[in-house]
Amino acid sequence: MLRGQEARIDLDALAGNLEKIKSLHGGVPGKGGDVIAVVKADAYGHGAVRVAKRLQKEGVLSLAVAYGSEARTLREEGVKSPILLLFDEEPQPAFDLGLTPVVHSKKSARRFSREAQKRGRELAVHVKVDTGMGRMGLFGDDVFLAKEVAEIASLPGIRVEGLMSHFSELGPDNMGFARLQLEKFNSLRNELALKGLRPFAHISSSAGALLLPEAHLDALRVGLILYGASPFEGDKTGLKPVMNIKTRIILIKKFGKGQPVSYDRTFITARESLIAVMPVGYADGYSRALSNKGYAMVRGKKARVAGRVCMDLTMLDVTAIKGVSEGDEVVLLGDGVTGGELADLAGTNPYEIMTSLGGHARRSFSV
Ligand SMILES: *Cc1c(COP(=O)(O)O)cnc(C)c1O
Repeated sequence: MLRGQEARIDLDALAGNLEKIKSLHGGVPGKGGDVIAVVKADAYGHGAVRVAKRLQKEGVLSLAVAYGSEARTLREEGVKSPILLLFDEEPQPAFDLGLTPVVHSKKSARRFSREAQKRGRELAVHVKVDTGMGRMGLFGDDVFLAKEVAEIASLPGIRVEGLMSHFSELGPDNMGFARLQLEKFNSLRNELALKGLRPFAHISSSAGALLLPEAHLDALRVGLILYGASPFEGDKTGLKPVMNIKTRIILIKKFGKGQPVSYDRTFITARESLIAVMPVGYADGYSRALSNKGYAMVRGKKARVAGRVCMDLTMLDVTAIKGVSEGDEVVLLGDGVTGGELADLAGTNPYEIMTSLGGHARRSFSV
């Protein structure tokens, strides 16, 4: 029996989005449209191997993943592009797989340095500084940070190729904190320049790419917009969703008025109703927060989620959909349902919608 959802991944849309992002960056004089493409979390649920191969073919400066295990899969599948290792500071995979690790402390820089000397190799690293995200990276004022970065740069076997930071809060109506973070980052870059250090600098992820041209610097380090979603409402950059997720109706029931649907009877039919069952639930990444809130498209029309989302099943109210029948396609994401809208309804962000729905889907790719 049909179970779960299928994701169709449009790699041409991915390539088109990459071109748009390059031209965003290219719009700044003297910049080359350089993109560090983030493919962590299985390329946000799109399938990292196929996505990485296509991005490599289209030309990106580097790929980026969170952990060494993700990079290992890409290398085993023949991906040759540079790979920035965002969070994993285990020295072995970085050398074995030819990765560019991000260094978050002097302590881990020393470990990389020792390993480099042991292997008689030189390792390029990017140093991350925490300008307000409160997560990974070296933390302190610009003079202290400049001293730390200079010390890391002077370690044998280590070459500080890049300097990076990450915005914690940035949207069309809240740009102030990101501007402060950028100021901090730039004053550190100035301090470093006084010491003769001018590493390749990147701070902008998708929100910065769209909103803060002055923060584009040497490269854009983006994920979400590559996949055709926007971090904020009503964005009109013309990005194309890469993922389209579908399932099918497995059963339709005709109920009279007053019939409860699903656990806890949170939905009661208000009229004679057609209720469809789909074989997708929260175990498939369809958030339980979409209970009585989410919607999907059936025959080009919106069908609301009726009652609680269950573990393996979800019901839809298809009363208003002419000709609806068992076996009909149900579009969960794409073709009228954006990740942003679903995210708002579920009280989350499009990242979580993509990684959970895409991450649990069977995938096929259009090339
Ligand atoms: C995930 C991530 C990105 C990409 O963010 P998007 O909003 O998807 O563009 C960039 N940098 C770091 C450090 C990240 O963790």
